[in-house]
Amino acid sequence: MIRRTISEIAALCGGTIHHNNAGDPAASGVTINSRKVTPGQLFVPIKGENFDGHDFAVSGIENGAVGTLWQRDKELPDALANVPVILVDDTTEALQQLAASYRDALDLRVIGVTGSNGKTSTKDMVAAVLSGAMRVHKTDGNYNNHIGLPLTLLDLSEDDDAVVLEMGMSEFGEIDLLTRLAKPDVAIITNIGDAHMQQLGSRAGIAKAKLEIVVGLRAGGLLLVNGDEPLLHEGLAQTVLPEGVEVQTFGLGSSNQWTAEAVTGDAISSTFDVSGQNGLQRIALPVAGAHNVSNVLAAIAAAKKLGVQDDVIRAGIHGLKLTGMRIEPIRAYNGAMMLNDAYNSNPTAVRAAIDLLAGLSGYRRKWLVLGDMLELGPDEAAMHGEIGAYVTPDKVDAVLTYGPLSQHTASEAVKHFEGKIAVQGEKQVCAFEDKNELAQWLRERIAPEDLVLVKGSRGMRMEEIVHSLQSV
Ligand code: ATP
Ligand code: MG
Repeated sequence: MIRRTISEIAALCGGTIHHNNAGDPAASGVTINSRKVTPGQLFVPIKGENFDGHDFAVSGIENGAVGTLWQRDKELPDALANVPVILVDDTTEALQQLAASYRDALDLRVIGVTGSNGKTSTKDMVAAVLSGAMRVHKTDGNYNNHIGLPLTLLDLSEDDDAVVLEMGMSEFGEIDLLTRLAKPDVAIITNIGDAHMQQLGSRAGIAKAKLEIVVGLRAGGLLLVNGDEPLLHEGLAQTVLPEGVEVQTFGLGSSNQWTAEAVTGDAISSTFDVSGQNGLQRIALPVAGAHNVSNVLAAIAAAKKLGVQDDVIRAGIHGLKLTGMRIEPIRAYNGAMMLNDAYNSNPTAVRAAIDLLAGLSGYRRKWLVLGDMLELGPDEAAMHGEIGAYVTPDKVDAVLTYGPLSQHTASEAVKHFEGKIAVQGEKQVCAFEDKNELAQWLRERIAPEDLVLVKGSRGMRMEEIVHSLQSV
């Protein structure tokens, strides 16, 4: 983490020292949460929608912070009279400037990951493939916005060799800011989905917003885009690349520069050859789904750019562990296989999950358990209906839904399933209003040879179904 004196920090963030009564102590690390201060940190009060961090600065100091930033035009409480205070025009911007200046002074490689889906998964994969060759830091959890990304940079230590940064966005201009702060050597766009359509107007708008990532790329840097997405090709044609930046494509389509051949897989893994790479044949990825093969191809391409040896890449993938609730295999009480994919959901991600189930054989019955996809905007009902139309009896054996929007999924799906009764005497498509009832219903019917995939938006907390069926 950053270790700088108060006067050095003031210089790095463009602030002025109001007073430095305690001498010029060094701060070790930065926090914005007054309740989670570890002694010696710098407190940064952030103004949010509901709270103003300035109201908590005194308690941050009481909890051990050595000093605090302070917005210039706010009155300073007496309790801060004897602690180092750095005055700035805007604390959020100062945090960003501090992080960017700190990053600039470090000699390390930066990998930025954006995309509608798969950012956290790909971030984990990039960190895994690099970790055998260098000391790698990565975004913690989902700290991927204009505050989380600077905090991640400030967490870096001088002896880190690389950092993998997740970059999230919901509007134009956000990735532009993050990439200027991070200045990546490698930027990855995992895919284009349909989240945040309201703000961005269209999927083409989403592609354009993700492509903002090129703005911060360093000279000699590499942009890796999912070449299976036509909108990224179209968007690239209209994008001015910084000088010396190279573009490569990855994906499952054979025309991509980085692609997989002879892909085989089951519910917990995939095996494939990286096309054209003699040292990267029969790669064993301990995670299911073609979408994850695509994600890991981006990670492999990034590692090759940074000069990582093939055997190190292979070992990194072998030892990969994704952040929880991303297609996470969990055994049910009776031995049935459950895939907990309940971290989030949207039409692109649900289709990827259905494709995964469709490709799997050897199970007595494949159950798809879907909760509502939230925040889709005015077309939400129709988008749920489209998922219902996509899920056909050749792909899964039964569809169970939870939530009011998912009733649209169920009512479309039931049209294909009519007359194709897999559960004797039961409907193959069932819409539930109560999560416990769904779990109980499933508990009474799953067999040890079954596969259950559970997915829904974060707010639906579909993992509760997995937990209630989990073996103890
Ligand atoms: P968030 O925007 O919430 O941070 P994220 O982009 O970080 O999400 P992950 O957490 O990696 O994404 O994955 C979330 C879900 O997205 C996975 O469970 C899976 O359903 C889906 N997903 C992951 N990668 C892809 C991909 N390449 N294409 C389509 N769907 C994907
Ligand atoms: Mg994420």
